[in-house]
Amino acid sequence: MSRTAVGAVPTETDEGRRSRAGVHVGRRQGESDLPIDVRRRVDRPDRSAVVVEAVLDALPSPTLLIDADGTVLLANTAWDKAADVLGDDRVRIGVDGDYFAMARRLYGNDSSSTLIDELRALSRGERPSVQADYALELPNGTHWIHLQASRVDQAGQVVVTHTDVTSRVAAERASDWRARHDTLTELPNRAHLHELIDAELQQPDRGPVSVLFLDVDGFKDVNDSLGHDAGDDLLRQIAARLTGSTRSSDTVGRLGGDEFVVLCRDCDTTGAEALADRCRASIDRPFDLGGRMVRLGVSIGIATAAESRPTRVRSTDLVRDADLAMYAAKAAGRNRVRLFTADLRAAVQHKATVAAELRDAVEDGQLVLHYQPVLHLPSGHCTGVEALVRWQHPRRGLLAPADFLPTAAQHDLMAPIARWVLHTATRQTAAWAEAGLHLVTSVNISAGDVTTGTLVADVHEALTGAGLPPEQLVVELAERSVVEDVERAAAQFAELRRSGVEVSIDDFGGGFSSLGQLVAMPTGLLKIDRSLVAYPQGRRSQAAAAIAAVVALAGACGVRTLAAGVETAEQLSLAAELGCTFAQGFHLARPMPVGELTGWLTARAGRPVAAVR
Ligand code: C2E
Ligand code: MG
Repeated sequence: MSRTAVGAVPTETDEGRRSRAGVHVGRRQGESDLPIDVRRRVDRPDRSAVVVEAVLDALPSPTLLIDADGTVLLANTAWDKAADVLGDDRVRIGVDGDYFAMARRLYGNDSSSTLIDELRALSRGERPSVQADYALELPNGTHWIHLQASRVDQAGQVVVTHTDVTSRVAAERASDWRARHDTLTELPNRAHLHELIDAELQQPDRGPVSVLFLDVDGFKDVNDSLGHDAGDDLLRQIAARLTGSTRSSDTVGRLGGDEFVVLCRDCDTTGAEALADRCRASIDRPFDLGGRMVRLGVSIGIATAAESRPTRVRSTDLVRDADLAMYAAKAAGRNRVRLFTADLRAAVQHKATVAAELRDAVEDGQLVLHYQPVLHLPSGHCTGVEALVRWQHPRRGLLAPADFLPTAAQHDLMAPIARWVLHTATRQTAAWAEAGLHLVTSVNISAGDVTTGTLVADVHEALTGAGLPPEQLVVELAERSVVEDVERAAAQFAELRRSGVEVSIDDFGGGFSSLGQLVAMPTGLLKIDRSLVAYPQGRRSQAAAAIAAVVALAGACGVRTLAAGVETAEQLSLAAELGCTFAQGFHLARPMPVGELTGWLTARAGRPVAAVR
C-alpha cells in the first residue's frame, strides 16, 4: 500500500457483484458505489488513516485514489504489484503519479481523452460513475481490463479499480463464435451468413452482391452407405475445397446438411458464374474417404443484387432466390449452374396457389374419376376399368393428373386424394354390380401411400364402406414407387393379396425395372408400359421381342400381364398373340366419366369388345 495524505478512504463494493459476463451491473443515477459504513468514514475525515488504508488494501483489484487532476493520492497493494503481474512498465506509477498521462500511454489518445473527460465529470459530481473495458496489448497477449470509478467526496476525489476480465471476455468471445459458426466445418452458419449478407447489401456505394447456393449431389448416399463419420469428413473436405475456390473477399458458409452458400462481394452475375464453375470443378475431383474414392457433383443457383438497387434487397430474398435457382439446376439434371430469373419465383407462387386450391378441391368435391375400360384378351370382353383422377377446376376446366399430382405430392395431399379415390371407385364399382355390371376396378397408389403405412387400412375401410368384395379391386403401384422401398411395399402387398385384393405393378419396363423385383414382389399383375407396347412404325419385331420376354418372365412367376397404351389394331393383336391376358388403351377406349362409361358398357354388354371396334 502506498499513500499520500488523504482525508477520506474510498473503497469498492465486492468485485463479484460489480460486473458479470462482460455486462456491467448498472447503477441508478446518483447511487453510490460505496458501502454505507465506508461512506460514513468518508463523511468523517478524522477517522484513522490506518483503517482507511486497510479497507482499500483489502480490495483484490488494483485500485487507486486520484484527485480531480488525475494525481494519484493512494494506491493499494494490488496496484503496486500490477506492473509486475502484467509485465508492463506503463502501469508502473505510484503516489503523486499522473493517472491521466498513464491512461494516454495505455489506451491511446482517443479512448483516453474520453476516459479523462468522464473522470473529470465524475469528479465534479456530474455523473454517478464511470465504467469502461479496455484491451491492453501485452507481451503475453491481449488483456481485457474493466475499469470502474466512483466519486468519493465533495472534494472530487475518485477511486478507480481495474479488474482483469480477460478470461471472462475470452469465454464470451468463444461462445459468440460458436453461436455464429458451424462447429463441423468452422464456416459461418446460417444466422451469421444472413448477417454478413445483410451487412454487405446495406453498404453504400458498393458494387453488386451475388449469392451462390450450393447443394451437393449424392451426399446422402455417401452418408447412408459409409456412415456419419465419413459424411462429416466429406463435409469438411467440401468446405475446404469451396473455400479454396473462392476469392479472399468472398465468404463461404454452411446452411446445414449438404447445403453451402457463398457470399460474393462486389461480384456481378458474370463473375458469380465463373466462381460457380470453379466451385463445381473443385467438387468434381474425387474425394478420398479413408482410402475409398468417392465422386460427387454439385447443383448451384445464383442470385445477384445489382449495383444500383432501387429497392432494398434483404439477405433472405437473395438466398431464397439463389435456392430457387439451385432447385431448377437440380431439376434440370443436377451438377449444373443456374441463374435466378423472375419466372422461377412465379412458378413457385403458382404451385403454392395450386396447392391451396387443391386442398379445398378435395373437400369441395371438385375431384372426379374417369374410367378406362380394360379388355380381357382371351374372351374379348371388358372385364374391368382403371379409375383415373381428374380435377374439375372452377376456372381452368378439367385438369389431368400430371397438372396437379406433383404439387399434391409436395404438399402432403396424396393421402387424402388416395382415400377419396378408393372411397369413390369402390362405391362406383359396387353400384355397377348392383346394376348387373360385374367389373374389377383398378386404382393407382403413389409411393407416399406405401411409405405412410396406411395403405392396407385405407383399402379395407373403402371396401367395407362400399360393401365391395376384395376380388373386385386392384391396387396399382408404379414401378418406380416399388423400387424405392421394396421391403415395405412387399409386406403391404402380401397383406392385400391375402385379403383378396389384387396388386399390380404399373408401367413395368418404362423406368428402372429390376427383374429381381418381380420375384420379390407379391404381385399378380404386371402392366407392360406403353413405351414397349405402342411401338413405332417399323419396330414391330423389336417390340415383339421385348413384350414376349416380359410375358414369359411374368408367366414363370405366375403373374398375368396387361398391355397398356394400346393405340392401334396391330398393337392389340400383337399383345394377344404374345399371350398378354389384358389390354388397355385409346384404341379400345379413352378414359371417360362415369355416365359415359355406363352407357359404353351397357351398349356392349354380352358382346366381345374387340369385335365391335
Ligand atoms: P397410369 O396409371 O399409367 O395411367 C394410364 C395413363 O395413360 C392415363 O393418363 C391414361 O389416360 C393414359 N393412357 C391410356 N391409354 C393410353 C393410350 O393408348 N395412349 C396414351 N398416350 N395414353 C394412354 P392419365 O389419366 O393422365 O394419368 C396419368 C398418370 O397419373 C397415371 O398413369 C397414374 O400414374 C397417375 N394417376 C392417375 N390417377 C391417379 C390416382 O387416382 N392416384 C394416383 N396416385 N395416381 C394417379
Ligand atoms: Mg395405372
